[in-house]
Amino acid sequence: MNLAAMTIASLVFAASMASAQSDQAITVTRAGSQPSTSGAAENFTGSVRVDARFKGSGEARISGGTVTFEPGARTAWHSHPLGQTLIVTAGVGRVQHWDGPAQEIRPGDIVWIPPGVKHWHGASATIGMSHIAIAEAPDGKAVEWMEQVSAEQYRH
Ligand code: MN
Repeated sequence: MNLAAMTIASLVFAASMASAQSDQAITVTRAGSQPSTSGAAENFTGSVRVDARFKGSGEARISGGTVTFEPGARTAWHSHPLGQTLIVTAGVGRVQHWDGPAQEIRPGDIVWIPPGVKHWHGASATIGMSHIAIAEAPDGKAVEWMEQVSAEQYRH
């Protein structure tokens, strides 16, 4: 192999390494780089804001975001095909599964909702609540939405 051929071969090798590296690049999504969005009215009661959304790439099935509920705000009843983890970051909230008691949740609490369990989560009546929500989507869908949590269900 002459010098020119060796140079071309090393350039091709360098280019293939660069492309392999870009497929595996670590992504840092900077704080404040995504606008806040509102929880869809058909899936939530009251004022709900979603920030800092995240999603894995490639074969990863994980996604989530930080959800902030004003006092009295809550999700509709719903379930997650592969379950959900909630990490409470601020305020006072509630979580309840169908036919179960509502549980108060506070900053630092970690909630695991098993796959397929019908439930809701949200703020307390007088104090808002924020949590990081993390779930996996087996077929691109991380949640199955159901009916709203009525005022009577929320009170109890
Ligand atoms: Mn949930």
